[in-house]
Amino acid sequence: MKRREFIVNSLLAIGGTALLNGCGAGGANAKRKKTGLVVTRKFKNLDIPLLSFGCMRLPKLEDGTIDMPQFEKMTEYAMKHGVNYFDTAYGYHAGESENAVGKVLSNYKRDSFFLATKNPLRALTSKEDVRRIFEEQLKKCQTDYFDFYLAHNISVLTIDNFRSFGVYEELAKLKEEGKIRHLGFSYHGSYELLEEVAKEYPWEFCQIQLNYLDWTAMNVKQSYEVLTQAGIPVLPMSPLRGGALTKLTGSAKAVLEDEAPNDTQASFALRWVAGRENNFTVLSGMSSLQQMEENVETFINYKPITKKEEDVADKISSILQKQGEINCTTCNYCQDCPRGVAIPAIFDMYNEYKAAGKTDVFLQKYDALKDREKAGKCIKCGLCSENCPQLLDIPPLLEMIDNTVKNLKKGA
Ligand code: SF4
Ligand code: SF4
Repeated sequence: MKRREFIVNSLLAIGGTALLNGCGAGGANAKRKKTGLVVTRKFKNLDIPLLSFGCMRLPKLEDGTIDMPQFEKMTEYAMKHGVNYFDTAYGYHAGESENAVGKVLSNYKRDSFFLATKNPLRALTSKEDVRRIFEEQLKKCQTDYFDFYLAHNISVLTIDNFRSFGVYEELAKLKEEGKIRHLGFSYHGSYELLEEVAKEYPWEFCQIQLNYLDWTAMNVKQSYEVLTQAGIPVLPMSPLRGGALTKLTGSAKAVLEDEAPNDTQASFALRWVAGRENNFTVLSGMSSLQQMEENVETFINYKPITKKEEDVADKISSILQKQGEINCTTCNYCQDCPRGVAIPAIFDMYNEYKAAGKTDVFLQKYDALKDREKAGKCIKCGLCSENCPQLLDIPPLLEMIDNTVKNLKKGA
C-alpha cells in the first residue's frame, strides 16, 4: 500500500483517538501543556495550534464597529497561549476585519503567526479582479504574503465565477511568486460538487462547516470523507454552529450534563470536532476574551473525544434535529436586505423558541425589533438567498415566522 493511501485509510478508520497528530499525552504536546500552550497538529511540516482564531465575529462596540482594544487583548492572550493561526476574509465585518487583523498583528513578528484570508468569488467581475483584490488584501493586512489563502465559498452560486475568471490559475501564479504559502478553498453545499472541485485542482486544504449537528443533519460526514479520500486536509469552521451548540436547553442540555459532566457545551463541541483526525485545526470565531479563555483552556488540557462521547453527540444531534430549527449560522452574509429585515436575528430567536418552547420570551424579543426589521416586511426580492452560504430559501422561512408570530399572538 502506498504511503498516502495508508494515511488516508488510517484517517478514515480512526474515530476519536489521537494517533497521527501528536495530540496524545506524550511528546511535544505534553511539554506545551506544562508551559500553558494549546496542543498542535501537523499540517505538512508545520505545527498548527489545534484552536484557531476566526475573525468573522470579532467583539463590537455599540455602533457596530470592531472593539479594537478588546480584540488586541484577545490577540495578546491567544499569542501567549500558542493560538497563532488567524483567519479573516475580504468581506468579514463589511471589509473591516482584514484592516483590524492587519493592525493588531503588526505588533508581532511576521513569522510568529499564520495568517489566512480569502478571495471573494461573488465580488469578482473579471479575471483581473482576482489579483487586484489580492493586492488590496496584502495592504489591508499589512503583510507581503499569506500563509493560507482560499477561494472563498465555492458553491453552486459561485462556481461559474470561479471557473470563468480562472481563479485557481491566478492564485497558483501568486503562489509561485511566493505571495501565497498554501492554497485552499472554502466550500458550502452538496458533496457532489465538492467531489468534482476536489479532483479538479491540486488543493492543499479545504475549509468546511463541520460540527456534531451538521455531521448528519447536513450530511457533512460525506463531504469530510470526500476530502479525506482525496488526501485534502480539512479546516473545520462553525464548530459551535454559530453559537447554537452553546445554547442547548431541555433534554439536549440534560443529556450533556448527565453524560459529559466535566464538559461545558462549548468544550464538548470543540473536542468533538478535533476528534476528526483529518481536521488540522478547529477554527472558532470568538467574540470575547472570556470565550477565548475558555476555548484555550479546552485545548491546553486537550482530551480526545471517546467512543462513549461520540454516542452522546449523536444523541444530542438527533434531539436537535427533531426540534425543527432553521439551519442558520448567523453569519450575516445576507445582511444587504434593501428593506432592512433583520434575518439572522429573527432566525436566531425563532431557533431559540423551537429549542426552549418559551412563547413569551420569543414574542417579547420579536416585538423589540424595529418595525422595518420584522419578517412581514420582506418583499421577496430573493437577494438574501443568493448570498446565503447555507443555501437557505429565506423568504418562505420569513413568511412562516411571520405567520407563527401572528398565530401565537392570536392564541395568547
Ligand atoms: S427577500 Fe426579503 S429578506 Fe431577503 S433581501 Fe429581499 S426583502 Fe430582504
Ligand atoms: S440566513 Fe444564511 S446568510 Fe443569513 S445569517 Fe443565516 S446562514 Fe448566514
